[in-house]
Amino acid sequence: MLDEIGSDEGLRLHQLIARLFPLPRSLTGAGVRSTLAVLGERLPLEIHEVPSGTQVLDWTVPLEWQVLSARILRPDGSILVDWTDSPLHLLGYSVPFRGRLPLADLLQHLHTLPEQPSVTPYRTAYYSSVWGFCLPHERLADLREGEYEVLVDTTLVPGFLTYGELVLPGQEDGEVLITAHVCHPAQANDNLSGVVLAAALAERLAGFGRRRWTYRFLFAPGTLGAIAWLDEHRDDVHRVHAGLVLTGLGDASPPSYKRSRRGNTHIDRAVAHVLRHEAPGSRLLPFSPYGYDERQFCSPGFNLPVGRFGRGVHGEYPEYHTSADDLSFVGPDQLADSLSLLIKIVGLLERDCTYRSTAPYGEPQLGPRGLYRGTGGVAMKRADLEMSLLWVLNLADGENSLLDMAERSDLPFTQVAEAAARLVEAGLLIDVLV
Ligand code: ZN
Repeated sequence: MLDEIGSDEGLRLHQLIARLFPLPRSLTGAGVRSTLAVLGERLPLEIHEVPSGTQVLDWTVPLEWQVLSARILRPDGSILVDWTDSPLHLLGYSVPFRGRLPLADLLQHLHTLPEQPSVTPYRTAYYSSVWGFCLPHERLADLREGEYEVLVDTTLVPGFLTYGELVLPGQEDGEVLITAHVCHPAQANDNLSGVVLAAALAERLAGFGRRRWTYRFLFAPGTLGAIAWLDEHRDDVHRVHAGLVLTGLGDASPPSYKRSRRGNTHIDRAVAHVLRHEAPGSRLLPFSPYGYDERQFCSPGFNLPVGRFGRGVHGEYPEYHTSADDLSFVGPDQLADSLSLLIKIVGLLERDCTYRSTAPYGEPQLGPRGLYRGTGGVAMKRADLEMSLLWVLNLADGENSLLDMAERSDLPFTQVAEAAARLVEAGLLIDVLV
């Protein structure tokens, strides 16, 4: 229904990541807006601006942060570190500062990764009034005593928290919520991979006229964006039938899925099923109250059926939150594979429904009804088709959904759905409204 993905799809996804990569994203500010503007060229995004000082759940929207320039000069006037080389060099939300510091004082403001001396860490200090720089540890090796000239030309003024939203209405009120965070500067896997995959999925669904579910896409700064959205939608989050937080989908690790807090909802079962049949080596992770925005969606007051789909898990790979999470760390093939899996997951949610057999007394004859002929959407060997037909006929008692049948028979959902479609055509199944 959503079409298979083309051979150059991975490259296109990678190109979009490359275009978004240099934009200086943060929790607020110009980088988030320009990122949403690029996505807005493809999707009719609705842009929300939540003013600084707004109370959202237990949090307050902070001042808006902008960077004009930031650098440190060595005592001899040469550049030690400059924000224009990479937005990672400035600690996120650094307060303005201008002055000269002796080396010992300067070191208090420098963040490095001694265990990975050639890379720059990605660090933020959203809720404390400090300034700092992040740089490769190896650059500290030859620092001499003397006065270092520091410039942190930033502004923190009343502004907005910005996020983008897109709703694609379906036949049912129930919503599928797809979210990706848009607050990290210069991090390709975490989370431009999630951003471009959410956008690619939205583009496909927008072009698909007969949507069963309503799809809501959210491109929002991590934590506070989700919290602002939840605050705004407190009274209608019950419409969320299923949801996925997308992050880290371009690295070479096998796919992974973190279950929702509820653990066995439709989305949990759908992803587990697709990964089991389509992604050997993939991992299923239990819920934990740490990680990305699933923390907010699965907080106990909301307890939404939202899981997290990714590949490498945050904190488990050394490139995480460093300058090594760059364009070379995400691959077109992995991006394409992740999109293909996402399309299969959504296809399952769209097609999963419940039937009742019209011939439950003894097995109906299948051959004379032409059930083995014709070309369906899924190519199957005759033996596989026969097993699928028998399972569907047997379990179509008005209680079991197609996913129930696929799980119990251990057959791929696509085969079960294809068998059901043939049986409906032959008049042996009728749809049951659940
Ligand atoms: Zn992150």
